[in-house]
Parts: sequence; C-alpha cells; structure tokens
Amino acid sequence: MRVGTGYDLHRMVEGRPFYLGGVIIPSEKGEEAHSDGDVLLHALIDAVLGSCADGDIGSHFPPEDDKWKDADSRMLLKAVLDDTKAEIINIDATVFLERPKLRPHVDEVRESLAALLGLDITAVSLKAKTAEGCLGELGTGDAVAAAVTILVK
Ligand code: MG
Repeated sequence: MRVGTGYDLHRMVEGRPFYLGGVIIPSEKGEEAHSDGDVLLHALIDAVLGSCADGDIGSHFPPEDDKWKDADSRMLLKAVLDDTKAEIINIDATVFLERPKLRPHVDEVRESLAALLGLDITAVSLKAKTAEGCLGELGTGDAVAAAVTILVK
C-alpha cells in the first residue's frame, strides 16, 4: 500500500469554463490555464505520481510544451494511470473556492471521478471549503485550489 497527495491552484478568470473533476460547473469564471485547467484532476494526477514517487504533473506534461495546450485533463489522468499502473483504493479530495457553491454539484463530480478511476462512488470523497474571505485570491473568488489524498495498492 502507498499513499499519495496532490495540490493545485489556478486563478479564476471570466470567459473560461470551470472544469472540476472532469465536469463543467456553471460559473461566471473558470480556471486560467495552459490546459483545460481542471484543478481537481491536476491535484489527483499529482497524488497518483506522488504515490509512485514519480515526479509531478509538470515533469510529465511540461506547460511550455505546446502539445499540452488546452489538453483534456481526463486524458492526462488516463495516461498517468496507464503509465504507473496505480490501482487506487480510495480518494479523499477537498476543493477550496468561494464561488460558485459546490454542494449541488458534489455528487456529479464524485460520479465523474469514480468513472475515471474505475471506482465505486463510495470510494470517492469530495468536500468543498470556502476561505471565508481570507487567503487572498482564494477568498475573493479569484482563485480555486484542490487537495487530494489517495491510497494505492
Ligand atoms: Mg494545474
């Protein structure tokens, strides 16, 4: 058994879709990014790579490489899962954002993660936290962050 953790943060800007765990969440703002910017999948990818002590998302998919421009993070996750052969047992994720409210979308995102990982939804935990107006851009709704822990066989 191995454990992996991942963290990611993106600025939130107008005119971009808000991707979260492979789902597009209705929102005035979305992640500013070279790829689709899916902050939750990026943290998950880092957790998978971390569990194998195999670098991070930036070393596998360098942002300066145009090949990854507007990349679908679901495909990046699939590539990492195929490469590492990581067999995930469960995932516990926290998303930090001020807006929009995630509660109505939590189960849809959990289902998306479960499908991407081949897990039962009971093995996928997703929690949402606001920054209570603190923590700079996170508190003003101008950034979103995600932290993920996984257990791997
Ligand atoms: Mg990222």
